[in-house]
Amino acid sequence: MKTIHLLAALLISGLSFAQNTFSYRTENAEIILLSEIQRESNLNNLIGVTPEIIAETAPENNYPIAVNAFLIKTKKKNILLDAGYGRELFNNLKSSGVTPDEIDAVLMTHLHGDHFGGLLREGKRAFPNAKLYMSKKEFASANESAVKAIKEYGEDLILFEPGESKPKRVFDALSSMKSYGHTPGHTVYIIDDLVIWGDLTHAMAIQMPYPQVAISYDTDPAAAVQSRFMMLAYIVKNNLTAAGMHIPYPGIGKLKSDGKGGFIFTPVK
Ligand SMILES: [Zn+2]
Repeated sequence: MKTIHLLAALLISGLSFAQNTFSYRTENAEIILLSEIQRESNLNNLIGVTPEIIAETAPENNYPIAVNAFLIKTKKKNILLDAGYGRELFNNLKSSGVTPDEIDAVLMTHLHGDHFGGLLREGKRAFPNAKLYMSKKEFASANESAVKAIKEYGEDLILFEPGESKPKRVFDALSSMKSYGHTPGHTVYIIDDLVIWGDLTHAMAIQMPYPQVAISYDTDPAAAVQSRFMMLAYIVKNNLTAAGMHIPYPGIGKLKSDGKGGFIFTPVK
């Protein structure tokens, strides 16, 4: 635990310790973390967190959080999973050897500003050759600034219905599942044995052992909790790996049950 705190302190102090990218291979793809932020967050926005849970999981009243997008490179396509804030995103893409015009598809988990910000660059469409994918339900819930960004993609917008309790193909080897609650149409994506779960969690240190803890950014906290339990159980049952937009570096890990109704997340190396 000491090491983790030291690492967090180094990240906060901005020493050149923070890493923005990380590469992970699945059977048919290379998954690259594109991280814009690694920092500590306080507990103010958590819902349903008790003094006992805090004492056990966050005794210093904070937890590490990230803001991530992911690049999926397959033989056929360069796919961007969410677009982050759009601040460090373009530098991260550059260090991954991909230019914005080489992105073939952008898949949205949901339409919050830390996920769709990078759809635009200096007010214009950032990915000129990309199709833009999102669930029908999420599109229907888009706010004014999300609609403005989406409009730039014109006829390249593709709306779909995610799988209900099993993955449904979006294109090629990529599939989707509903995970509604954080937002009305929040969607997770699956490629090979990797689930990219968007905002299924925000506070890993707390929500892994206690998935019943929600956050004020959830549109429907009760539904978000239900979706979280369902998806975490699905991942463990099928022995899948997980990547998330707010999972601290490297943003990807293995999951197992803790035998007490919660889960243990182990980052990949
Ligand atoms: Zn988010």
